[in-house]
Amino acid sequence: MNKTGLLFFPAFDWAIAPTHPEREERLLYTRDQIVEEGILDLPAFVEYNARPGSIEDVERVHLTMPDTRSVITAAHLIAAGSCIALAEEVFKGAVKNGFALVRPPGHHATRTVYGNRGFCNINNVAITVDYLRWVKGVKKIAIIDTDVHHGDGTQDIFYHDPDVLFISFHQDGRTLYPGTGFIDEAGTPNAYGTTINLPLPPGSGDEEVLYLLEEVVLPIVADFKPDFVINSAGQDNHYSDPLARMAVTARGYGRLTELIKPHLAVLEGGYSIEGALPYVNLAILLALAGESYEKVIEPKGLPIEYRARHLEYAKKLAAKTLERWQNRRELAAKERKNYNGYYTYNKTIYYDTEDFYEHRVTTVKLCEHCPGYHGIKTYAYVNNRVVSGFAVIIMPSTCPDCREEAKWLVDEARAKKSYDKVVIIPE
Ligand SMILES: [Zn+2]
Ligand SMILES: [Zn+2]
Repeated sequence: MNKTGLLFFPAFDWAIAPTHPEREERLLYTRDQIVEEGILDLPAFVEYNARPGSIEDVERVHLTMPDTRSVITAAHLIAAGSCIALAEEVFKGAVKNGFALVRPPGHHATRTVYGNRGFCNINNVAITVDYLRWVKGVKKIAIIDTDVHHGDGTQDIFYHDPDVLFISFHQDGRTLYPGTGFIDEAGTPNAYGTTINLPLPPGSGDEEVLYLLEEVVLPIVADFKPDFVINSAGQDNHYSDPLARMAVTARGYGRLTELIKPHLAVLEGGYSIEGALPYVNLAILLALAGESYEKVIEPKGLPIEYRARHLEYAKKLAAKTLERWQNRRELAAKERKNYNGYYTYNKTIYYDTEDFYEHRVTTVKLCEHCPGYHGIKTYAYVNNRVVSGFAVIIMPSTCPDCREEAKWLVDEARAKKSYDKVVIIPE
């Protein structure tokens, strides 16, 4: 038996719209199920209260446009702060692991935030990761994203950082929002290979996901040797989810959790609020506590035609992914030769909730001695005007020379006054 912390924050006062799938009932049915099953009476579980995070916690990760207060609500600060609070309980050994059942979710929130996209404003998991790294001195963290949607926001934030391993399972981006998460998105030359995408065809279920987990994810995580493991525990891979077309069961999620052994699981999406969420959440909690989840069965069964249709595809994907992981250092060295110390690329980000685009130019410093730093120039046309920003991001392992260069860039941009906002992250 493990001591497992759990924390509920259903955010009663936050919704995109009253009939939107991202609403508080998502957690209320789970709460009822857990009370009904007597989970809270078991000695394994310790319940914690929600706790707000600070603006500083948010700004340790995000460039918020035009400012932090205008892109978040109190609910966002509480969701992120609660994840940090539970991570701290695990970090200090009060519990072995924990599950933060919070909303609003976070994994579509990128480094730059102009508003809501994919139901997310700020990235709860990334904020927790950088709290653990900058405040608690944790060195290496692995994030495993088991939501059906690609965790594009989390990927964006850690794309240049070799000390954060990001692995996402999801329904193929050609068939689902946000339309990214292909296998060639593997990190820039500073961090080549520490972003891993495992896109699966619609209809994939327990067999495919568990195959990839055992054959690819676990060996890579073992090789990476993280000090802390976080699971972005979205539940929309469930066969009854109304937004996606995958076939994972509640017990499949239980097994995933048992194998990943996260220190912290953080709820992301999952919109089958009566048919799946109460069961998936229960299976995850039982698995975290080292208890049997075998009796967790959803009221409506899995359509039989879904069984293991895409196992062959998963096997090919596994072989390709492992080969790249093993050769990542050579591939990165080869890639770096193509650039003269700096690597620049453009990116356009769509904000589906409010319907506008953000445009970015990112320049990554490729240092010989460290993972470097990167600068993001961003602008968007919001509320009838163009807003522009510039952020320079340093990482915990950025060397002193690179830090100085990063600070100089920020000072220069501030002096020129050509952006509405200029920040160094973290300040
Ligand atoms: Zn999702
Ligand atoms: Zn350096």
